[in-house]
Amino acid sequence: MLPFLREHWGNPSSPHGRGRRARSAVDDARDRLAAALGCRPRELTFTSGGTEADNLAVRGVVERWGAERGRHLVVSAIEHEAVLTTATALAERGDAEVTVVGCDSDGGVDPERIAAAVRDDTVLVSLMLANNEVGTVQDVAAAGRLSRMRNPRVLVHSDAVQSLGRVPLNLAALDVDLLSISAHKCYGPKGCGALYARWGTNLTAQLDGGGQERGRRSGTENVAAIAGFAVAVELVERERPGQVVRQAALRDALESTILAGAPGTRVAARSAARLPNLSALLVDGASAEALVAALDIAGVEVSSGSACSSGAAQPSHVLTAMGGDPRTTALLRLSLGRDTSDDDVTEAAERIVAAIGVAVPPRRPGATAVPAHR
Ligand code: PLP
Repeated sequence: MLPFLREHWGNPSSPHGRGRRARSAVDDARDRLAAALGCRPRELTFTSGGTEADNLAVRGVVERWGAERGRHLVVSAIEHEAVLTTATALAERGDAEVTVVGCDSDGGVDPERIAAAVRDDTVLVSLMLANNEVGTVQDVAAAGRLSRMRNPRVLVHSDAVQSLGRVPLNLAALDVDLLSISAHKCYGPKGCGALYARWGTNLTAQLDGGGQERGRRSGTENVAAIAGFAVAVELVERERPGQVVRQAALRDALESTILAGAPGTRVAARSAARLPNLSALLVDGASAEALVAALDIAGVEVSSGSACSSGAAQPSHVLTAMGGDPRTTALLRLSLGRDTSDDDVTEAAERIVAAIGVAVPPRRPGATAVPAHR
């Protein structure tokens, strides 16, 4: 990224040498990203991140196709807020009607239930590839296939922001029309992402202006971030096979130690298909906010639910959709990464067990339970 911040800082839309150098960096990054994802470069639109890609997909489809095909959207209850609140905001304004499909107690969304919600006026189905709070991986290909059997004109979008470097991203096998990704989920820079749109999938742009990104996303491109994004995806994809095995083993060790040391604690979606780097602990009778704060002081950085609105402790809609009660159960999201070591896991497990022990003291025989969080 540094050359594009230091020497080659031109505007990719400028016709002079420095501008052309920046343009070729953006083109090169698009080529590399397309090669890593198995799509054509012109099917990728760079955005400011996953949120913008999700918004462009959902709003862009409704605006472009709503009048012609209908304004009904099908989304799962465990989508990231970038999809869920975008869909509900459209519904509140009267621009769309939304069916929210629930999940099972493991955070799995049944493709048949998605398809069953599809109607003649359904314009878009949006199902995330991997959930950001509990890590469950969904059968997006099946959901898309079954949905199109009910309505061949329906467009299928998947939020794959959590999946890069963790789940094989084979666009041909997924067979989606639209897919969102974000650089900072795979060690790239924050504030950069992309939307894949299958060639021929028209969308209404959500940012008008200079007509960059073939008119789909106006605004001067963030050249350094885009260059960093492409390299990050290449690296994370190259390391994926080894890292998936390594991180899953560490994650399992972390979970076993915590469950042994803190009886009563559960792991969400433990036996479901899930991401190798994520563990969602369910601690009954504890406040997620208090546990996160106690662990932070203990030097262990975890989050409760989604980390998207910084500092705001919002009850997890994913936990609710799974049948849990965020008022009485804390969801702690533990993430591992390529730098996480055996020692990190041992140390973190010890401190987490200690923090849970303080938050939920072992019950004395005969004592009545008092909810820690009202
Ligand atoms: N979708 C999912 C599943 C996410 O986990 C996130 C971020 O955490 C986003 C979308 C938003 O991406 P960004 O932070 O790049 O806007």
